[in-house]
Amino acid sequence: MMDTFESNGSKKWDEYMDICEAFLDCGLPNFIEERLDLSSLPKFLSAALGDFGRAWPLKPHSDVLDAIFASEKMKALASFQDLYVGLEPFANKDLPLGGVIDTTAPAVFGLLSAIELHPTNNKCGVFAPIGGFRAVTNGMESLARDLGVVIKTETTATKVTSEGVYCCETSNTNKIWFEAADFTVINADLPYAKKTLLDNNQQVDEWPTYDWDDSCRFSCGVIAFHWSFTKTLDDLYTHNVFMSVKSRSSAEKSWEVIRGNNRKKGFELDNNSPFNFYVHRASLTDPSAAPKGADSILVLVPSPTLDRLTDVKCMNREEVIQAYKSQFDEEMITYVRQSVLQRLAVIDSLKDIEQYLVHEVVDTPASFADNYNVGAGTPFGLSHGFGQLSITRPGPHSSGIPNVCFCGASSRPGNGVPLVLIGAKLVADKIANTMPSIANDKTVKGQI
Ligand SMILES: Cc1cc2nc3c(=O)[nH]c(=O)nc-3n(C[C@H](O)[C@H](O)[C@H](O)COP(=O)(O)OP(=O)(O)OC[C@H]3O[C@@H](n4cnc5c(N)ncnc54)[C@H](O)[C@@H]3O)c2cc1C
Repeated sequence: MMDTFESNGSKKWDEYMDICEAFLDCGLPNFIEERLDLSSLPKFLSAALGDFGRAWPLKPHSDVLDAIFASEKMKALASFQDLYVGLEPFANKDLPLGGVIDTTAPAVFGLLSAIELHPTNNKCGVFAPIGGFRAVTNGMESLARDLGVVIKTETTATKVTSEGVYCCETSNTNKIWFEAADFTVINADLPYAKKTLLDNNQQVDEWPTYDWDDSCRFSCGVIAFHWSFTKTLDDLYTHNVFMSVKSRSSAEKSWEVIRGNNRKKGFELDNNSPFNFYVHRASLTDPSAAPKGADSILVLVPSPTLDRLTDVKCMNREEVIQAYKSQFDEEMITYVRQSVLQRLAVIDSLKDIEQYLVHEVVDTPASFADNYNVGAGTPFGLSHGFGQLSITRPGPHSSGIPNVCFCGASSRPGNGVPLVLIGAKLVADKIANTMPSIANDKTVKGQI
């Protein structure tokens, strides 16, 4: 098929995947897992320097793609994963170094393609857990309980100090107590935690609020449609990406939401604006995702993040969240829903799916903020330009309190379940090393 997009398309793809493979094999141990692996360096250097630096990893991603591919479709296929880290592939001429410090993915992010499509590493690929992501959470919970960890739910942390954590019942914020701790790991989103949980001005008996440190650059937001249908959508795969690639200019415009992040108030409500989106159809591989003869899909449309309100200190959390919900009003949601249905209708069997749509749940940056306290409402955390990547990304020890650490999407190494788990393991190892007496004392129990 790639040869129909451009001459020698599949050969060029294989060449590109070889480069991505070298970036992943070297980048994963050395820059993500923080363990020195010299054996992967020769192949990395050959990929980076070959053909006079044609695929130099610090260039904007689009410079490398332009040097390899002619077709915009091939370039889109080779770079849509930049979305996962909140960056666009296109060089931004208005920013220094084509934007790689800021909103443009450096070419090294080709390693994301290799995570999904690595030609030889069979640990790579796209994995969809049977039973949905809750199955993973349940698995982790049961492992933790087996190790003696006490898990408290329906509990909101309101303030973290060097002595421990102030908490309240989520449904009754007047019921406040203090949990003493030798060491606290904050998994709540870092920019939110910095502004609220670690705020010296926050009194321990104040109601929980929602705010975030806006000195960071965030990934884009997302509008998520969880749709149920009374018929099966057989022409969708498990993992489907819809990209706008009619021309170079429409391809570039389709990433506008990332380039304009935090500066642009909303989508342009204009039918000609191209946009990209992702569709996950779990039922193809997981029979528990929908009853027989029916179907369910998740549609993710990149969106702007929340525009921070600066006067929230005098409002309670409910009022703050309500104010943010109005930034994603029904008019915007209706427009996005219709645009997605229209785009899906290019597939013959999906032309009339709206009439089979029987149930919908919509998430917006405001509901992600409400449900998970994520800064700016983005579930993808801080973006991953060079200004917030590897050692320039906030590290576990950036709380300012020696026995309080961060882990999670907005800290190192970054967003996405695999990276978050790698980061959590690194943090656990660091604590075990700094507090060996606790790590070896089997009578000490953790709490989550
Ligand atoms: C629709 C969608 C699809 C996604 N798809 C994928 C995917 O396919 N693959 C992938 O790798 N990633 C995916 N992600 C991203 C992934 O979900 C995140 O990267 C990951 O969940 C981040 O983990 P975390 O532990 O940092 O944060 P979270 O999972 O948000 O965990 C932090 C927890 O802290 C809790 N918390 C916050 N504040 C407080 C407080 N004050 N007191 C008590 N608890 C608090 C929150 O409620 C939350 O449960 C997706 C995200 C979304 C929204």
